[in-house]
Amino acid sequence: LKCDAAMVTCGAASAVTLGTAACMSVANGPTTGHLMPADMTGLKNEVITQKAHRYDYDHAMRNCGIKFVEVETIEQYQAAFTPNTVMCFFYNAADGGSISRQDWVRIAHAHNVPCLNDAAADVPPISNLWNYTQMGFDLVAFSGGKGMRGPQNAGLLLGRTNLIDAATKNNSPNDDCVGRGMKVAKEQIVGMVAAIDWFTSQSDAEFEAEFRRRCEVIAAALKDIPTLTAEVFIPPVANNVPHLLIRYDVARVKIAPKDVSRALRHGTPSIELNPSTGSTQASAGIPKDPNKIIVGVWMLEPGEDAIVARRLREVLLQAANS
Ligand SMILES: *Cc1c(COP(=O)(O)O)cnc(C)c1O
Repeated sequence: LKCDAAMVTCGAASAVTLGTAACMSVANGPTTGHLMPADMTGLKNEVITQKAHRYDYDHAMRNCGIKFVEVETIEQYQAAFTPNTVMCFFYNAADGGSISRQDWVRIAHAHNVPCLNDAAADVPPISNLWNYTQMGFDLVAFSGGKGMRGPQNAGLLLGRTNLIDAATKNNSPNDDCVGRGMKVAKEQIVGMVAAIDWFTSQSDAEFEAEFRRRCEVIAAALKDIPTLTAEVFIPPVANNVPHLLIRYDVARVKIAPKDVSRALRHGTPSIELNPSTGSTQASAGIPKDPNKIIVGVWMLEPGEDAIVARRLREVLLQAANS
């Protein structure tokens, strides 16, 4: 993976917690493991982040007793460093934030503060497994069960040797630390290593061609549904592979996208559409338009594209004819 050191964690959120615990330990000394997250008196515990990079997973850092210091401009970032700064955090797939990855790392390093990048869902492209550590991020977190298709309860923390060592000390089998409940079994480690071997032997072009083909199978089955349009859509950072984006006139095909999700979930076999289906919120590059269905095809096993196509057709055709 072209980095100094690496560990298998029990997911990306766990990798973010252990990475934060590592930065806390390096900044405050080895007894910090015992003190986190409750006894913070006198400890350095500030994590700088862009306001737009606060996200649903930041509990993974707050587990370590840290406080966020939010910035929006480069000037605010420069001024935010104090003797209590332990880490600078970057959310790789953030929808907002004006400070680039390169500037984030450069300014942190000018203050001798390590940077952690949460890139959980951001492979493919395959090279992202090393792009961010090579850009200078001291720690990078990935989810094992997303783009790498490895065990759902595994993830990776990649980075500098001293920080990975400190993360390891904050993890099981040590007892008195935030990571004791984040045990990784030998089965997960073997599964994660096998997933990396598989993933790094694939090609981005072949992934894209195969996912486009699956989108086309599904779109072809829907082409006579009145008012329906289907297009292939590639989110820019997270989940950066072809998805099928479907729109139709709900006045004509009388079912809301969220109800299509429900019908597919409760059908046989149960099918889960992308959670942005029918959502009024933008998420990781997917538009906020509620009147859309998003089909993520990359997790399908061979032949399942035809099953998804058949079920979507049944549900939408029934609504159009009702
Ligand atoms: C999915 C995700 C996580 C959590 O990943 P797990 O492997 O389930 O722990 C953390 N951060 C981001 C940005 C994610 O997309």
